[in-house]
Amino acid sequence: GGDCEAKPDLSGVRSAEQEEAKGGGVGYGLDAAPKRKRELVDGSPLDRFELRYLCVTDICGQAWCELQVAHGFELPDVLKRRDESQEVRAGASIHLARELEVHDVVPVSAQSREDRWALKFLNVLGMIPVLQAGSCVREMPVFGVLEGIFVMGVIDELHYSHKGELVLNELKTRGHNSLPGRAQDRSHRLQVGLYKLLYDGLVRGTLEREDFIRSLQLQPGQLLGSGVMEHAQKLGLQVGTFGDLLDLLLMNLTYCELPTIDVLRLEYCHQGSGTPIATREVPFDETQLRAELQQHLSYWTGQREARGVDIEEAWKCRYCSFVELCEWRKERLQQELTGHPSKKL
Ligand code: SF4
Repeated sequence: GGDCEAKPDLSGVRSAEQEEAKGGGVGYGLDAAPKRKRELVDGSPLDRFELRYLCVTDICGQAWCELQVAHGFELPDVLKRRDESQEVRAGASIHLARELEVHDVVPVSAQSREDRWALKFLNVLGMIPVLQAGSCVREMPVFGVLEGIFVMGVIDELHYSHKGELVLNELKTRGHNSLPGRAQDRSHRLQVGLYKLLYDGLVRGTLEREDFIRSLQLQPGQLLGSGVMEHAQKLGLQVGTFGDLLDLLLMNLTYCELPTIDVLRLEYCHQGSGTPIATREVPFDETQLRAELQQHLSYWTGQREARGVDIEEAWKCRYCSFVELCEWRKERLQQELTGHPSKKL
């Protein structure tokens, strides 16, 4: 699923949402944050990359290779080339087809950052009654503050099982007709675990108005654009400003009485044929998940440097867009390989 999210099961792919986290926006261009010169900025990666929030996929990418995520922000053009690859497009179209099964995708023009967040809020507001009625929703935005940092994601699918449990289903398209290995599995488990933390936080009403104003620096007084207003009216909502809609969202979440997620499930499907490969249930251990999250976030808050892959996982570099220019791979791994000249990275 995907966030911020790169739909296809590829690491190192960034999406429009991730671009938006930078305060820039892809293709909108109306609220591009003033670009500071990188050499003048000497802060944490969050500051250096001018990120107001992280996407779940950024954090999961770290479980694959943290340095790859860092390179992705430093050298976005390298990633853009990969975004346009056929594999990425094929995965995205499977996700879109599934989304269209349950609801129409309505294009609405957004004119400001507030508008883009307003559209996410409207999506959530539209999905609350569907879930309350016991039906399935797809592509649900989820967001909140985890360990002090605002995080955003998009859940592929939520539905109720025949036992009445709320099931999160995350679709992963695979180039090969096989299940992923351990490294990818770890990243996928982290992804669905983070979705649960975010979703459960939303329906428990833990989100605060200040989180949006302070962390995301959104303006509550910003008037919503005409496209967004029209869309809100179609849903029967009378709102004028971003703050109106934010308050409406928070109130609805506080009183929605939706259940938290009971089951986390990963569904693997073959990209070429679209046929299912297998589904796996993922256990949820909040203590372990939060510890893992803190470890990942300590890079973003500047407490430590980005790390590349361990020698045992050097095979990942073969799938990495930055393999030619990665110093970690060049220096560190070559060094560690001294004495094993026959082993090729
Ligand atoms: Fe990570 Fe290897 Fe890519 Fe370097 S080349 S960023 S170590 S995957």
